[in-house]
Amino acid sequence: MLQLGAALTVTTSGGNDYAPFRRALRRCATSIGRPLPWVGHRDPWAVLVSEVMLQQTQTSRVEEPWQRFLTAFPTPQACADAPLAAVLRAWAGLGYHRRARALHDAARVIRDQFNGVVPHNAAQLRLLPGVGEYTAHAVASFSFGERVAVLDTNVGRVLARALANRSLSRTEARALAYEVLPRDHVAEFNQAMLDLGAQFCRAKPQCVECPVAQSCRWHRDGGRDPAPTSAAVSRPQSRFQGSDRQLRGRALAALRDAPRTKRELHQLLESEDGMRNDSVIAGLLSDGLVERKGSRFRLAES
Ligand code: SF4
Repeated sequence: MLQLGAALTVTTSGGNDYAPFRRALRRCATSIGRPLPWVGHRDPWAVLVSEVMLQQTQTSRVEEPWQRFLTAFPTPQACADAPLAAVLRAWAGLGYHRRARALHDAARVIRDQFNGVVPHNAAQLRLLPGVGEYTAHAVASFSFGERVAVLDTNVGRVLARALANRSLSRTEARALAYEVLPRDHVAEFNQAMLDLGAQFCRAKPQCVECPVAQSCRWHRDGGRDPAPTSAAVSRPQSRFQGSDRQLRGRALAALRDAPRTKRELHQLLESEDGMRNDSVIAGLLSDGLVERKGSRFRLAES
């Protein structure tokens, strides 16, 4: 039984002993660790930037923009003092640009309400714009060693398969993530869970090579794969090619170079559907990513 906060009590384990799984994960943690530049980074701003970028984006696509972004904005203060347009330029190649706006807003809150210092615990991190439970817990755990569970799609698959062998509700997944969490070396354990999910316990699991297979319930007991319907496990993203996301990316890429008229933007979007083009531009305006100055559109300044 586990107490979550003051009000919620959840039973998940039914007397399960997770020690063998923890031991197996600890043994392989170093060998399954991915050489990612933000892993083990002590600067919480660098970790926060990486976690925001990793939302909905493959790890391999984040490494170069992360370095570029931190070179341009090495501190929350530097990011907060810059116009939004500069932040959007540094975001090139990542997509989902609302995250860039939220990160810029978060930097301003850090500057104005936290004296330029990234908050040191998950509860305060949650006060920042665009920072949800996963991101707050990741920064609190990796940068400050707080004993909080990091639950993303990778970890969600491991929980459902290796520890529960059944589909979990969000409450159950959260509770189980805490139940299996050790008392010490929490950051290392959370990172190893992420690495296991990313390297072996993928959407298509690599059980034959998996270093924790001996302590995995699904591997031992069999049955239907519980991961695809379990909470925290993300569903496949919609197709990018031909999507509005692609058109939004094209519009912002064009505006990174120079302001454009509506006619120029329509041409650069490479879509012959004028109403759809208008709708994409209207979406960028309402998201505060683009602004209109006279007859031209440009990246928003603030
Ligand atoms: S044995 Fe297979 S299902 Fe179990 S943790 Fe490893 S990869 Fe995942």
